[in-house]
Amino acid sequence: MPKSFLIDTSRCTACRGCQIACKEWHELPANKTRQLGTHQNPPDLNPHNYKLVRFSESLENGKINWYFFPDQCRHCIDPPCRGEAEGFMEGAIIQDEKTGSVLFTELTAKLTPEACEAVRAACPYDIPRRNDQSGLLTKCTMCFERVSRGMLPACVNVCPTGTMNFGERADMLELAQKRLAAAKKIYPNAVLVDAESVNAIFLLFDEPQKYHPHAVAGLSGGLDRKQFLTRIFAPLRRPMQRVVRA
Ligand code: SF4
Ligand code: SF4
Repeated sequence: MPKSFLIDTSRCTACRGCQIACKEWHELPANKTRQLGTHQNPPDLNPHNYKLVRFSESLENGKINWYFFPDQCRHCIDPPCRGEAEGFMEGAIIQDEKTGSVLFTELTAKLTPEACEAVRAACPYDIPRRNDQSGLLTKCTMCFERVSRGMLPACVNVCPTGTMNFGERADMLELAQKRLAAAKKIYPNAVLVDAESVNAIFLLFDEPQKYHPHAVAGLSGGLDRKQFLTRIFAPLRRPMQRVVRA
């Protein structure tokens, strides 16, 4: 059985330790950024941030609510990104059988920018980002090099609040049910997100759309207009790309 994360947002304080640990472990360079009037920084996932603590706030009945969402690849059990990439180049995206981690390989650098867009559009959680310098598609790796040696992912290792959890999928599913039952006593809207189809399971204590438009697969249609058009035209592009490479 693969490994899974349980990301319990009811415990998240948005310290961003996970975000920094991820950058440090993967030796990702700093982003040129600036304060945009929100705790969320940088403003989005990018080739140098595989992990991003998203932040949103809402005013309801005179009360301000804060929502923290440590976003990352969900390591889908049947990953749509891999299915899409295989239409362009076999081996560009692979899945490790033992851990369940979905890995973007160096072959992604050989995908055209249009093919990368199609792969991006296939992801229901809006995760992959293309590094325009190297051409590589990037995202969370489940810290495969650590996990395959029995270590915890860097982001889980540093989390001081119990938000980030990782282990055997059966154990994480059991923990998820326990945490959900506890959260529901305080937050009746608490929910586990897409637990049956992903290996990074989020526990949210309020409605998913309050956190992030892509918190759940299919939320708001899941795709923006650009992504929708990319997906529609992707099948027309593939035969041409195969001919070019032949
Ligand atoms: S979340 Fe997106 S990038 Fe990650 S495995 Fe699923 S489809 Fe692929
Ligand atoms: S598992 Fe590793 S690569 Fe993925 S978000 Fe955590 S630290 Fe980053």
